[in-house]
Amino acid sequence: MVAAPPPVRGRILIRIERCKGCEFCIEFCPSRVLVRSKAFNAKGYHYPIVTQPEVCINCTGCMTICPDYAILSQPVEVANDSAPSAAGAKDKLANNKPGRETGDSRSE
Ligand code: SF4
Ligand code: SF4
Repeated sequence: MVAAPPPVRGRILIRIERCKGCEFCIEFCPSRVLVRSKAFNAKGYHYPIVTQPEVCINCTGCMTICPDYAILSQPVEVANDSAPSAAGAKDKLANNKPGRETGDSRSE
């Protein structure tokens, strides 16, 4: 019997100041990972925030649909023995809380 490959989750990086608040990423996400923030960025737009990092499947849809390159998804492997557990994935993704500029080093 062949072992199943480890499931892949996504780590979402949001470049808040690039966002124009179109909400395409929020609407497109099949896992409902993103919601609109109540806060504004410097341009006056509501940007997306990650509310359920443990259910991101790294489909990269949000990244593909964003017209402003303001959101990225990176794969995160989750151990097989904790794979079906959202709690397990949540532990692995404990550092997946977005900040204002969440780890992406591309220049503006
Ligand atoms: S990578 Fe896919 S599942 Fe994850 S936040 Fe983006 S659209 Fe949603
Ligand atoms: S698709 Fe891009 S510009 Fe539109 S809300 Fe999402 S991150 Fe912002």
